[in-house]
Amino acid sequence: MNNQCPFCHGTTWVTEERNGVLVGRRCECFINNHKRRSIERANIPTRYDNCYLGNFNTGGNQSLINIENQIRQYLVSFPGDSRGLLLQGPPGVGKTHLAVGIIHYLIEDKGIPCIFCDFRELLHSIRSTYDHTSQMSENTIIAPILSTELLVLDELGAEKTTQWVRDTLMFILNHRYNQMLPTIITTNFPDRDDLVYSSYRDHWQEQDETLEDRIGIRLRSRLHEMCMKICIEAEDYRKRTSQSAFQKGIRGRLELRQEELP
Ligand SMILES: [Zn+2]
Repeated sequence: MNNQCPFCHGTTWVTEERNGVLVGRRCECFINNHKRRSIERANIPTRYDNCYLGNFNTGGNQSLINIENQIRQYLVSFPGDSRGLLLQGPPGVGKTHLAVGIIHYLIEDKGIPCIFCDFRELLHSIRSTYDHTSQMSENTIIAPILSTELLVLDELGAEKTTQWVRDTLMFILNHRYNQMLPTIITTNFPDRDDLVYSSYRDHWQEQDETLEDRIGIRLRSRLHEMCMKICIEAEDYRKRTSQSAFQKGIRGRLELRQEELP
């Protein structure tokens, strides 16, 4: 509550006239406080605090502009059919920036709760609950990411998956799929086709390893069902933001295909 607010003086309510009738509505200070708390709860890493869709640098690359527009269209009808996005691309193309930009948009413009979750940190947190001195339970870690309206799972496949990791992931993704809660996933690992046709083959992290190799066929298949794939291939984001890269003209390839539902 903001006692200093000149509009509501701390009551969080103001009145306004609509069609000749005085009606009450929430004060802007309340709405802004709510957004601020939602952003804090979203767990966005400090490094990405200032990542918005509005400041995503496409470098004038038409393919990236198209991708950005596709994401905006996706957000206008969000949650739509409840499918998420699979942002697939080599390291440094700006996948995490886009994912965090989506979180900012959904919280600030639509008031939808979101959580950012780094894949490796998630596994580390769950494992640490097995330590008998830990104060946290596995349920405490997993419950918020099972139920949040939008989950961003960043860097999927960054850690080699054991059967335990695959089971944990399957549990989380299955639950969200069944509850029709969208998940946005970023990964540095391609599908086989991405490598075959890629002019950016050298940019992918592990050219001989696909996402399926990293997470297994069952999980990859589940992602087909629950996400629309967006393949982002372009110069490294840091290069893209430099003037020289901009002058040279930046190549990029758009591959946006709606993967079929079963
Ligand atoms: Zn106020």
